[in-house]
Amino acid sequence: MTTTYSALSHLECSRTGARHDADVVQGVSDAGVPLLARYDVERAGRTLTRQALAARPATLWRYHEMLPVRAPDRVVSLGEGMTPLLPLPRYGARIGVPGLLMKDEGLVPTGSFKARGAAVGVSRAAELGVTGVAMPTNGNAGAAWATYAARAGLTCLIAMPVDAPAITRTECVATGAELYLVDGLIGDAGRLINAAVRDRTGYQEVSTLKEPYRLEGKKTMGYEIVEQLGWRAPDVILYPTGGGVGIIGIHKALREMQELGWLGPDLPRLVAVQAEGCAPIVEAYREGADVSRPFPDARTVAFGITVPKALGDFLVLDAVRATGGTAVAVSDEALLAEQLLVARDEGTFICPEGAACLAAARQLRESGFIGGADRVVVLNTGTGLKYPETVPVDVPTLPVDGVIPPRR
Ligand SMILES: *Cc1c(COP(=O)(O)O)cnc(C)c1O
Repeated sequence: MTTTYSALSHLECSRTGARHDADVVQGVSDAGVPLLARYDVERAGRTLTRQALAARPATLWRYHEMLPVRAPDRVVSLGEGMTPLLPLPRYGARIGVPGLLMKDEGLVPTGSFKARGAAVGVSRAAELGVTGVAMPTNGNAGAAWATYAARAGLTCLIAMPVDAPAITRTECVATGAELYLVDGLIGDAGRLINAAVRDRTGYQEVSTLKEPYRLEGKKTMGYEIVEQLGWRAPDVILYPTGGGVGIIGIHKALREMQELGWLGPDLPRLVAVQAEGCAPIVEAYREGADVSRPFPDARTVAFGITVPKALGDFLVLDAVRATGGTAVAVSDEALLAEQLLVARDEGTFICPEGAACLAAARQLRESGFIGGADRVVVLNTGTGLKYPETVPVDVPTLPVDGVIPPRR
C-alpha cells in the first residue's frame, strides 16, 4: 500500500467555493477572501485512524494526513503541539464550572499558540519555493514566524505596533528577522508590509488569513482537544478572538473529524471572546450581521486580540452561529482579576488573552449559557511570562541587615 503523508487535494474560496490549485503559492481567493485547504478525507482516513494516532509522536504533525506539507522531510519543527489539557478544579469550583479544563498553549515553542500556525505555514511556504516571509503582527505571530523562518533557513520581514509586547521584538531580533516598529495598529503595519513585498522577489506576504496554511496549523488545537478527551467533544469551547484564525481552525477541525467519522452531529458550542476595548465580532454577533465593522479606538491589555477588523470575521461568526455558540466581551479589569485568581488557585500563569476566556466563562455561567454540569474548555493562547507588565509587583526591598517580618 502506498502511504499518503498529506491528503491535501485543493484550496477552496471560503465565500464562493471556487477551486484553486494547492501546489503553487497562493494568497487570498479571486473573491478577496481566505482560501481553505481541502483534503481527500477518504484517503487520509486509510492511515489516519484513532488507533494509529495512539502510537505517533506527541507533536501536531501526528495529524499529517490532514495537514498540507507533502514531503515528510519538509517539516520544520521545534516540537510544537500536544499541549496539556489541564483540569482547573479549584478555579472551576470558584466560578461554578467544576468541569472546567484549560488547553495550555503557553507550553509551545515561543510561548504562544502562534507557533502552530508558523510551523505549518513556514514548512509549506518553503516546500512551495518561498524564500522569505513578511507579515504585520501584534507581536506573537511575528515572533513565531521569525523563529520558524530561522529554523527553515528563510528570511523574515516583520512590522509591529510600538505597543506590542516588548519580548516579541527581542524574539524577532534574536532569530535574525528584519523588524520595523510602527506608531499605530496592526492595520498600519499591514500597509507597510504590503507595499514592501511588492518589490521583493521570493517573498510571500503571510498576513493573517492571506495565505491558507497558518489556519491548518492552528486547527490542530481542535484535533488535540478531542483526542485528549478520549475522542469526545466538550460541551463548550471558549477562544480569545483577534483575527479569528484559532476559532475558525477549531471549527474546521471539528467538521473534518465529523467527515472522518470520529464525531457525531453535535459539535461543541464555540464562543468568541473579545475585550470590551476591541469587540467588533461581538457587535456584529449582537446585531445579527454577517461581517463586522472596524472597531474605533481599539485598545486592550490583551494585545493579541486587538484586531479592529478581521479578514475572516464572517468565518468566525459562522463558527459561532453554526454551533449554537455566542460572542462575548469582557473588561480589562475583569480579565486581569481572573489572571491572578487562576495563578493562585491552580499555579498557572496565563496570558491576558487566555484570562479573557476565564472572565467570559464566569459571565456565561452567571447568565446560564454554561450549565453547572458542562464540560468546558478554555484556550490559554500563551504564557504569562510574555506579559510581565500585566502583574503589578509591589513588594518590599529589605536592607542587607534587615529581617523578614513574622508570617502574615
Ligand atoms: C494572536 C493571539 C490571539 C488571537 O488569535 P487569533 O487566532 O488570530 O484570533 C489570542 N491570544 C494570543 C496570545 C495571541 O497571540
